Amino acid sequence: MPAQLIDGNALSKQIRSEIAEKAAALTARGLQPGLAVILVGEDPASHVYVRNKVKACQDAGFKSVLEKYETSLSEADLLARIEALNTDPSIHGILVQMPLPKHIDPHRVIEAISARKDVDGYSTLSAGELMTQLPGFRPCTPYGCMKLIESTGYDLRGKHAVVIGRSNTVGKPMALLLLQANATVTLCHSGTPDIGHHTRQADVVVAAVGRRNVLTADMVKPGALVIDVGINRDEAGKLCGDVDFDAVKEVASWITPVPGGVGPMTITMLLQNTLEAAQRKAQA
Ligand code: NAP
Repeated sequence: MPAQLIDGNALSKQIRSEIAEKAAALTARGLQPGLAVILVGEDPASHVYVRNKVKACQDAGFKSVLEKYETSLSEADLLARIEALNTDPSIHGILVQMPLPKHIDPHRVIEAISARKDVDGYSTLSAGELMTQLPGFRPCTPYGCMKLIESTGYDLRGKHAVVIGRSNTVGKPMALLLLQANATVTLCHSGTPDIGHHTRQADVVVAAVGRRNVLTADMVKPGALVIDVGINRDEAGKLCGDVDFDAVKEVASWITPVPGGVGPMTITMLLQNTLEAAQRKAQA
């Protein structure tokens, strides 16, 4: 029997409507959640991502501030803008769209964002909070993957999860979140000699590489739950993930499609983190 689809669009819609309700309640108390997005340069994909983030904020009833700058913006000027937003009481989350122009150090920029407003969860403090299981902002994409798994009712306790890809923004935090859910976790990367050896033993596979067909049907244990984070294009220019979807869905029990799986959840969890930032401020 083919795998059941984990529908990121449907889950996203449901979570966003819950977020909008909570945002309306906060707004009624004079604390409208606010997200500031900074975009530097002309990268076309970044412009699309930012537009989607701004629209999602507006649809959820958040205050949304978009600051666009020329590629020539200096690092010092960018840091000064972040500092101003750090102290702006109407802004609860700050996101600087990556990649930045080469003359700007992304680490310095991320670390300049106040820990209370780091809704992307990329700072070293947020990473430390995740590592030590303290409350904090979880990076949006792995946070969204966890929600997708949760939505199926799948119990991760005692299961073997394999994550392919070890980036600081997806693979590593994903592995930590699965570990916190009491899965036994294996993290594979470009230096792993035989990835199939690991995935064939996995109850859950998360593919986060950015390369087509990293996970093929012969690498999947029957009945596994498969999450596809990758975004690629096939020969026809059609969007596809890292997983050989048509073949793997015949072996897996649950699978996320691309598009319509992890993608919509990433922005949803950005809204969730911003809402949480505003709620914390309301409690403070
Ligand atoms: P990244 O920073 O480029 O990291 C890719 C990881 O994959 C690295 O750890 C790399 O290993 C590993 N890798 C590369 N080739 C490999 C191979 N042949 N076998 C096994 N591992 C390999 O990318 P990322 O930011 O984590 O993103 C991964 C993918 O997810 C991309 O397609 C990206 O567009 C997509 N993405 C989607 C969303 C969404 O919302 N849907 C959000 C974020 C990212 P090394 O560390 O050894 O180099």
